[in-house]
Amino acid sequence: MKCTVCRGPAEIRVPRHNTKFCIPHFREHILRQVKRSIRKYEMFGHSERVLLSVSGGKDSMALWKALIELGYQVEGLHINNGFGSFSEESEKAVRSFSERQGAPVHIYRFQELAGYPFETMLRYTHMPPCSLCGTAKRYLSNRIAVEGGYDALASGHNLDDETAFLLGNLLHGQTGYLQRQSPVLPAEPGLVRKSKPLVRLTDRDMSLYAQVEEIPYHGGQCPHARKVMSHFHKEVMNYVSDHSPGTKGSFYFGFVDKLQPLLSGSAGADGGEQEEVNYCTVCGYKTTRRGKCKWCELKETVAREEGAHADGGRNH
Ligand code: SF4
Ligand SMILES: [Zn+2]
Ligand SMILES: [Zn+2]
Repeated sequence: MKCTVCRGPAEIRVPRHNTKFCIPHFREHILRQVKRSIRKYEMFGHSERVLLSVSGGKDSMALWKALIELGYQVEGLHINNGFGSFSEESEKAVRSFSERQGAPVHIYRFQELAGYPFETMLRYTHMPPCSLCGTAKRYLSNRIAVEGGYDALASGHNLDDETAFLLGNLLHGQTGYLQRQSPVLPAEPGLVRKSKPLVRLTDRDMSLYAQVEEIPYHGGQCPHARKVMSHFHKEVMNYVSDHSPGTKGSFYFGFVDKLQPLLSGSAGADGGEQEEVNYCTVCGYKTTRRGKCKWCELKETVAREEGAHADGGRNH
């Protein structure tokens, strides 16, 4: 097997691009794909400050390394959810990479940001864990980025994540999510620009890159992960692309480049469905709801239920 670039011995095959690489050219390939996404979708520039959500898993950690290699001004943001040893190991990986690279990182505990432990919020809101986790991360990371004056917030969602999400949204007719499913979402008042620089790379690409760069990541599974439907959608997409390797890319970029602009364009411009824009009466951040945003409402529910629980306890 020969490297497609230098004709030397190749060690890594990338079926999606029908190429083979030696280690140095595989590194270049990964960085080129990240750079292409950043430039094509105008995610951020070299003079801008980027906050990267780092979970401690392979994707965000590998993206952290790639952004440093490409010379971007990137700082990590890690929120420890308090999921026992899973969260402790994840935080350890984040700290270890940050120290090794001399890369700035901001680490918070869920409870210090939310005011309650994750499990308490779960008990009183009755939400599925991943919905609560997603709602919290979206709200909290946006707020930290806005208040810290960052130009962009980046995340390590890769092509496998995005195609699984797209498939799920199409299967369930989630038009609101489909309108916003883009590699980049522009900034708006109270909302930082959001970007996903790994949309041209897969789970396998990122595992290999993390191995090649010897990145300390936590490969363990979140204790709530078994309830995630997107794993099933990933399996479906893997099955299809095993038979036809370019399918994930054509599915995702066909949607993002051709279909998604039509969906967004139809919202409002010709009388189509458009989300209402309001500002939360509690925190002042943008929301599609009237009155309180979802996060403030959740916190109020927890405060109320916890109070009732304490009163109930006293009356017995
Ligand atoms: S599996 Fe669910 S709960 Fe666990 S980190 Fe991921 S989104 Fe959060
Ligand atoms: Zn080579
Ligand atoms: Zn609010």
